Amino acid sequence: MGYFRKNIEQVKGYEPGFQPKETDILKLNTNENPYPPSPQVMKVLAQISSEQLRRYPDPIGNEFRQAAAEVNDVQPENIMCCNGGDDLLTIAFRAFCDKNRPVAYPVPTYSLYPVLAKLQSCKAIEVPFDDEFNLPARLASTNAALTIVCNPNAPNGSFVSVDELASLADELSGILLIDEAYVDFAEANCTELVKEFDNVIILRSMSKGYSLAGIRLGYAIAQPDLIAGLMKVKDSYNIDAVAVAVAAAAIKDQKYFSETTEKVKKARGLLVAKLRDLGFEVPQSYTNFVLAESKNCKAGKIYDKLVERRIYVRYFNLAKLDDKLRITVGTGEQNDKLISALKEILSERRPFGCAQGKLTGDG
Ligand SMILES: *Cc1c(COP(=O)(O)O)cnc(C)c1O
Repeated sequence: MGYFRKNIEQVKGYEPGFQPKETDILKLNTNENPYPPSPQVMKVLAQISSEQLRRYPDPIGNEFRQAAAEVNDVQPENIMCCNGGDDLLTIAFRAFCDKNRPVAYPVPTYSLYPVLAKLQSCKAIEVPFDDEFNLPARLASTNAALTIVCNPNAPNGSFVSVDELASLADELSGILLIDEAYVDFAEANCTELVKEFDNVIILRSMSKGYSLAGIRLGYAIAQPDLIAGLMKVKDSYNIDAVAVAVAAAAIKDQKYFSETTEKVKKARGLLVAKLRDLGFEVPQSYTNFVLAESKNCKAGKIYDKLVERRIYVRYFNLAKLDDKLRITVGTGEQNDKLISALKEILSERRPFGCAQGKLTGDG
């Protein structure tokens, strides 16, 4: 065609998880929260006025900014609202990277980062994690303008300590963006680093912990100077009035948030135990998903067999991941349904792609 910039012609584009149309399915493929958003959210939604829709929204979403500042024990000046956490990633690439200013991040991680690098024409320095997913020491010396650490990390659920990230922030000459999209299911977060370091940006999302993937709202936490700089790059109205009102109601309801995230964490523990009983290798997860490796069966084949049963999980046909399934933690009942299906699949008499004699079950 030749109309596009060369990078755009070449980039494949981010491939989101499959969003099936049917409703009578078990959907454990894109890390949505199995619980509905806070009841306060639906009340606020019912009260949205036509006047709120007729007018342009508050360009910086002060209502949400204040609520998020309170919850995180920072000032509203430390917060920038975004059209989902992904919007903050786009803004950060545009703000800090170009063809002479690379991005660096440990891999494997969120597969959106390399796509954004390509769109921004910046070099991506990918530093491999070791097998235990420790933070690679080399990350501190890449000279990247922007270093991203997804913590907890996707797609394996590991967590790097706050102290290690503090040391990294201290060593880096550029920006450290800590992608905390899943931090609501972890035991600690890096908010305190924002007070100490002028080069740290924390990314948060309302999609996972607050069950609001359907409206788009995420936010940055950083020192006011960084927030002010990022504001120059964002779209003038990057967040809409409905999302701001709804997300503010959700983040104010901390009681409901704690209850539902605790339920997910409890269900995660049970799911991991049951998957291990079935012979899967599952590392500890600090997120609302688990990465299960089948020692005996091809993960792609198990995926297909699950789809036949209308159960969707995530399979990545990529190096180091193509022997694993990423499974979103559902309710206890949903997880049990998945476990029963896996039991059936693994105990079929002639399981396709499974090593003989090592099967779980007596089929
Ligand atoms: C979900 C997610 C985000 C942000 O998602 P939004 O829905 O845009 O808020 C960012 N990073 C990672 C690793 C994620 O999984």
